[in-house]
Amino acid sequence: MKIDESNFYPYQSRFPVLRRLPETGRSREEILAELRALATEENTVWETGKCSGTMYSGDHEHYHFLNQAFALFGHENVLQRDICPSATRFEGEIIAMALDLFNAGAIQGTTPAGMITTGGTGSILHAILAYREYGRKNRGIVHPNMIQPETAHPAFDKAAHLFGIELRKAPIDPRTTLVDVDWVAKNIDDNTVVVVGSAGNYGYGTIDPISRLSELTVARKVGLHVDGCLGGFLLPFGERLGYDIPVFDFRIPGVTSISADTHKYGYALKGTSTLLFRDKEIRNAIYFMMPEWSGGKYMSPGMEGSRSGGLIAAAWAAMVQLGREGYMRHAKAIFETSAAMQAAVRSHPELRILGKPTFLFSFTSDAFDIYHVNDFMRERGWRFNGQQYPNAIHMAVTRPQTQPGVVENFTKDLAEAVAYAKQHVGDAPRSGAIYGGIPGGMTPEAGEFIRAFMAQMLDSHQAVPE
Ligand SMILES: *Cc1c(COP(=O)(O)O)cnc(C)c1O
Repeated sequence: MKIDESNFYPYQSRFPVLRRLPETGRSREEILAELRALATEENTVWETGKCSGTMYSGDHEHYHFLNQAFALFGHENVLQRDICPSATRFEGEIIAMALDLFNAGAIQGTTPAGMITTGGTGSILHAILAYREYGRKNRGIVHPNMIQPETAHPAFDKAAHLFGIELRKAPIDPRTTLVDVDWVAKNIDDNTVVVVGSAGNYGYGTIDPISRLSELTVARKVGLHVDGCLGGFLLPFGERLGYDIPVFDFRIPGVTSISADTHKYGYALKGTSTLLFRDKEIRNAIYFMMPEWSGGKYMSPGMEGSRSGGLIAAAWAAMVQLGREGYMRHAKAIFETSAAMQAAVRSHPELRILGKPTFLFSFTSDAFDIYHVNDFMRERGWRFNGQQYPNAIHMAVTRPQTQPGVVENFTKDLAEAVAYAKQHVGDAPRSGAIYGGIPGGMTPEAGEFIRAFMAQMLDSHQAVPE
């Protein structure tokens, strides 16, 4: 597969393509003006409220506030606590607030604890590593395996790949999109270090039957990780608002850890997530120490070395500024918007919502390829996430969708999109399923595909003529 990388490299017609460090610097004002131009343009894409997920707050005043908090501590390395004791306060309080949100107060017999990582993948990697290490130390497991629903986030596959853990993938019930608990029961064995469930999963926004998984894991002393990366900072407020959200947190005795991203519905800056444990001992299994290093005694809690104090300060600032009341207010608007959008989808007999979703809903069609709907909606500026097996598209409702007029536009555009799809039943749709965006005209062709895709992201400046 050949891709014209020179065409892909962005902004090449407007700005010089840098290939070496400039000989002399430029003025701060000029650079900031250039950055502002790019950011302002790029913001227009999602400010319309037509973009699924990714911009969870979308409130420029909120972002400005977070950036001010970041600016005060962005230069600090939180690994060096002697010069930034504030990081100890921020980190400790973020963890305490998150533990409280997930009802860690219900925990008896163990000491709950947590850590802050760089994102959802960071939290998942640390969790899985902790279970591997804990399983080795406490259960003597040398060939660990883990069980996850087929719908679990690829970060778990990445963890299994990186840490040499056998991955057992549980099928889902296609009707509910929830994990087949009987399959999990049959496949747990003495080498299982952790079972995973999602609240909610990325694809369908549905919540796995965590209490049933808990019955399996508690009896066998196996870990149960709940992936609340996406829903963690939203679902607890939905529950308080009276939505039908099954309990998924530390109130369930088998839940041993939860990942919840501050950089999603926590409304913090990108680059932080929380990882919470029922038992401090599981977290402590990944502590790293090298006391004999010639560079001095070295210790770090997890995989990262230096981390930015700015991101932790901004996450703390987001949580404290909003408080329970603020999160509740945003959650109310998001759940109501999602319900209204789902009603628009349900009004078309050709469309079918998968499972029983809450804030994120996914839909398909048995009458036509749903990617025809996506094709049409893209022309209208909508950016959904594409799925496969079956083909489906999803909308993770965030605050930008709660603006006035967005639901009305969605309803109107969707009706026209369905009409368009019906007219194109026999044709091949233009769009397909790729997590995080689709480069034009690419089709999956084994290993070549990822190299071409990554080359566009990382190397395309090399192909711009000098
Ligand atoms: C986003 C997401 C993740 C991974 O988080 P990153 O922050 O992208 O690394 C994990 N699980 C779910 C359900 C998610 O939506």
